[in-house]
Amino acid sequence: MERRRRNALILRSLIAFLIALIVIFLVILIRFGIRSGLFDRGWKELVTTLTGAPEEISPEEPVPGTAVLEAENAASDAGSAQDQIEKTLEEASVYAAQYDYQRAIDLVKSRQEYNTSPKLQNFVASCQAQKDACAAWPLDQITHVFFHTLIRDNAKAFDGDENEAGYNQVMTTIPEFNSIIQQMYDRGYVMVSLHDMCEVHEDGSVSRKEIRLPDGKKPFVLSQDDVSYYHYMKGDGFAEKLIVDENGEIKNTYLEEDGSRSVGDYDMVPLIDRFVKEHPDFAYHGHKGIIALTGYEGVLGYRTDEVYKTREESRLTAYQRAFLEANPDFDFENEVKQAKAVAEAMKEEGWEFASHTWGHINPIAYGYEATVQDTQRWLDNVAPITGDTDVLIFAFGADINDWTPYTRENEFFSYLKDKGFSIFCNVDGSQTCWVQFGDDYMRQGRRNLDGYRMYYNPQMLEDLFVVEEAWDDARPTPVPEM
Ligand SMILES: [Zn+2]
Repeated sequence: MERRRRNALILRSLIAFLIALIVIFLVILIRFGIRSGLFDRGWKELVTTLTGAPEEISPEEPVPGTAVLEAENAASDAGSAQDQIEKTLEEASVYAAQYDYQRAIDLVKSRQEYNTSPKLQNFVASCQAQKDACAAWPLDQITHVFFHTLIRDNAKAFDGDENEAGYNQVMTTIPEFNSIIQQMYDRGYVMVSLHDMCEVHEDGSVSRKEIRLPDGKKPFVLSQDDVSYYHYMKGDGFAEKLIVDENGEIKNTYLEEDGSRSVGDYDMVPLIDRFVKEHPDFAYHGHKGIIALTGYEGVLGYRTDEVYKTREESRLTAYQRAFLEANPDFDFENEVKQAKAVAEAMKEEGWEFASHTWGHINPIAYGYEATVQDTQRWLDNVAPITGDTDVLIFAFGADINDWTPYTRENEFFSYLKDKGFSIFCNVDGSQTCWVQFGDDYMRQGRRNLDGYRMYYNPQMLEDLFVVEEAWDDARPTPVPEM
């Protein structure tokens, strides 16, 4: 008993002594450690080892490797600055290729790298020199060519049915179109907008603009009529509609023989988009053609006219009735939404829209009251999809006046002008260029590049392309007379 108590006392004393020893040792260690920074270093090293995270480096206490890290950062900064310079040059080079030198210069100068990059400074100097070398092209020497919907499948278009003659006269096949565009490009032609030629001011007045191009380049206006993919064309070898594909590009759909749908470049808009991607200098300031739309069977392949919604018996045509019967799930609102999305994407790509009248009418033959109703229908049914336009491209190559200037005394002009139209195009294949400016309008004649013109008047196209090279042998001859 006595011995056990004594042993316990010795044990307790020993433990107390050991604890005291440990405490003293720790106090010494901590004091020494803090002074020497050993704990700091140890802590940081421990964290780094455990997490792999880089140390927080205090500037006054660099650790080995810092200099290397800083050098690497500087190198990657230089790399990204170099990338930025290349990116800027790439973007600006497209503007410069499209003769928009000022935009290219402004873009490059807006970059912070400009002040220190000889490469960017040289680019600006070169743009300025190219800009200075350009000359203004006389506006009345600008030609305007147009196409209808292109034929994708010749065998179907030229199959001997009742529509073959019309297609042969006024349509162009895709190989013909591609050849014409390539030949025009090779000769220095550059697409310009009607709005590059003139400016329509807020107060309705119209003034001349300036188109400046390098030596060897010549401007032309491109348009396409009736891009509605009318019901009557179904099954005749034409595209079905325009769409925006998953890459945001404008394409056509085409209904194949077996009922499947293919997506591709089956009409003018995607063909030109692809051509300009390969040849940016074909589009002045990125501007492309102008699409002249009627409204009575919708636009761009979408059945967006009000009759597809109201289904008013007295207004529905046999084609429209058949279409609605064949498509019981037809969703009008969705149709309008899709057409709008395509029109928006086209405008982004440099396309413009014009009225071709709602009902494909000749105003004077149709009469004033009927023209007013027709115009209102275009404004109600087409303008909400395409946005406002001040361009009227007459159907049938008609006009509301002879070659003499429009005046307000002409009730058609007065009405159309009040409805916002200031640029008017007819068809005049007899001369290469016809442009007329008034105080409040611009007029231009257009030339049809179709089977009829190529077959009967190849010499009238000599300034544009060689017909023999473009001619598609699948086209039946003789092309029927009009
Ligand atoms: Zn037309």
